[in-house]
Amino acid sequence: MQIGMVMEVAAESELAAGKLKHAKEIIDESPLLSENELWLIQFTSDYYHHPIGEVVAAALPAALRQGKPRDSIVQRIGLTPLGAQTDLDALCKRARRQGELISLLRDAESISFADLDEAMPGWRRLRSSMIEKSLIEEYESADDDLSGGLANVEQEKGPRLNADQSSALESIRAGKGFNSTLIDGVTGSGKTEVYLHLILDEIAAGRQVLVLVPEIGLTPQLVSRFRRRLGLEPEVLHSGLSDNARLAAWRAARSGSAHLIVGTRSAIFVPLKSPGLIIVDEEHDSSLKQQEGLRYSARDLAVVRAKKLDIPIVLGSATPSLDTLQRCHDGAYTHVRLPSRAGKAVPPLMRLVDLTRHDAYEGLSQPVIDAIEKTISRDGQVLIFLNRRGFAPTLICTGCGSVAECARCDSRMTVHAGSNLLKCHHCGAQRGIDSECLECGSTCRPLGHGTERLEDALRSRFPGEVITRIDSDSTRLKGTMTKALSMATSGETRILVGTQMLSKGHHFPNLTLVVVINADQGLFSTDFRGGERLAQSLIQVGGRAGREERQGEVIIQTAFPEHPFWNELLSGGYAKVAASTLIERQNAVWPPFSRLAMLRASATKREDAHRFLELARTLAETAGIDGVRVLGPVSAPMERKAGRYRAQLLLQSRQRSCLHQVLNCLRTSLEGSPDARKVRWSVDVDPIELF
Ligand code: ADP
Ligand code: ZN
Ligand code: ZN
Repeated sequence: MQIGMVMEVAAESELAAGKLKHAKEIIDESPLLSENELWLIQFTSDYYHHPIGEVVAAALPAALRQGKPRDSIVQRIGLTPLGAQTDLDALCKRARRQGELISLLRDAESISFADLDEAMPGWRRLRSSMIEKSLIEEYESADDDLSGGLANVEQEKGPRLNADQSSALESIRAGKGFNSTLIDGVTGSGKTEVYLHLILDEIAAGRQVLVLVPEIGLTPQLVSRFRRRLGLEPEVLHSGLSDNARLAAWRAARSGSAHLIVGTRSAIFVPLKSPGLIIVDEEHDSSLKQQEGLRYSARDLAVVRAKKLDIPIVLGSATPSLDTLQRCHDGAYTHVRLPSRAGKAVPPLMRLVDLTRHDAYEGLSQPVIDAIEKTISRDGQVLIFLNRRGFAPTLICTGCGSVAECARCDSRMTVHAGSNLLKCHHCGAQRGIDSECLECGSTCRPLGHGTERLEDALRSRFPGEVITRIDSDSTRLKGTMTKALSMATSGETRILVGTQMLSKGHHFPNLTLVVVINADQGLFSTDFRGGERLAQSLIQVGGRAGREERQGEVIIQTAFPEHPFWNELLSGGYAKVAASTLIERQNAVWPPFSRLAMLRASATKREDAHRFLELARTLAETAGIDGVRVLGPVSAPMERKAGRYRAQLLLQSRQRSCLHQVLNCLRTSLEGSPDARKVRWSVDVDPIELF
């Protein structure tokens, strides 16, 4: 059986009659998606040059695509005319339980199976005999229970907004219809408080709110804050849900019974009965962009959708993307600022430790060790940030210096001491740790530091302290993440070691010191977004420190303290880095001052990938459209991955429309070309990673 979607109805077909098939069954009697939702799907397909069938697949819950009906069906029990007239007293004497069920049904007319299970446990045993006697009947109906979403919790009062928050709120409230606002507020400045007020406005007016958050931003802490403060149960949509739970949330959003939907990027496609507002939190976060298959930006689509619906959109971040900042400068978005922390908290102090002047013990310099000691002795909590999981980035031979490489990728194997394995973080390959060099027989030792090794070092340097590591290895088991986070929040954990996973969204009340072990990779990135990313990641992780009364401190270890990036960041914060980076981008005509699209191809033979992109280059250059630069093809920075050779071709233009015209030409010609059969290829519009 195949399930299809009817996108439009036509009187004739270009296909031969013999090629057309009849539909055997119609699953939904009325359309699944409204005109606005179909419009968004069509727009996404056009803009990202991606087949519409795959966009529909991404937009709809899997359960619907497997044939579940659009509306949820509830099984109910009702009385037959005979049951309605039966002599209740007489029946109760003969069969008390049957009488009870009939009396329940007389009061309510019909009751769902689920409600009966609660009202009269064990009623199901009576079912078949009472149906046989024609006292009751079963039927199905659409679930029209609109009471969902109201939690039985009392709505908690929030703090009084400060002057900056109030003026942000007033500015947003003053807008009519579609308008975009950036709330540019330092971490802990009370952006979420402003969202809460806006959400309450919409709910009071009977409209729905969609809140998009990055993957790691959707924490239980955030959801429970919404629940307590709004007095309702948010519908949550993320990749970890079961198919049925996802369908239930989708239905609730579509029927309007869900007032607030909080979700990660794919929630941008959720249908809304009465949309009032879209909020994108941490709008700079790269997880809002899907990096494979349909490569869409949920943030960008959110703006487009809000415009189509003529409703306001609010983007929030402590480290706004340069794209969004530039739109503020252009006057397209309203820029509101929350420059200081709300409540009593003050911003953390940031300083560098020069690794060329201080020896490091297992990656920890003496000033860092002193600072950790001091913090612990004052009952504070420390977060140590290292964006590299595993024990060590690689294994090196002490004799000939050769390093352990992945056989299928141009990358090194990471040492995982806990499982005694070498693993490739790019293709997942793994093998045992070689104790002797395969080339010369000398002993091998781990080189560099990962979170696992750092945890070991901290345990031996600070014995007796509670140390918790949080990364994708340590939290793989169900429930371990929740436990680790609650230990960190309660303050039981004294030293937290972790990756990116720890850097956003969390609020650890006792945390006063953040240490960044190594940020230097980001200083010399080949990607023009390297500086922007590094500044964002440092400000975000630093923002975890000192969120309550005690002032926080952020220490960054670097071997390049003279690099101009540090001066900008330390003297002017994110805003200064952003301003100078925008000037660089303008001079180099990189986004947001131009538009990019990336064509990627991979093949088992290097030549095939390159030949395909050469063809694309020729097609782009002969398409007769001015103002599009074609760069490449070149091999991807990590050329071989999982046994395939990867290459890329970059298209750049000041004019979005020119770029799209070229992409349209390319798509049609490339799809039919024989060279395309040997490669896997994809188009990435507005790429955010240039590899
Ligand atoms: P952000 O979303 O910008 O990180 P939050 O809204 O989470 O900031 O606020 C950070 C902390 O400050 C929270 O504990 C919050 O309850 C508190 N807070 C926010 N606004 C105020 C205010 N006006 N007065 C006192 N405390 C506030
Ligand atoms: Zn060797
Ligand atoms: Zn590999």
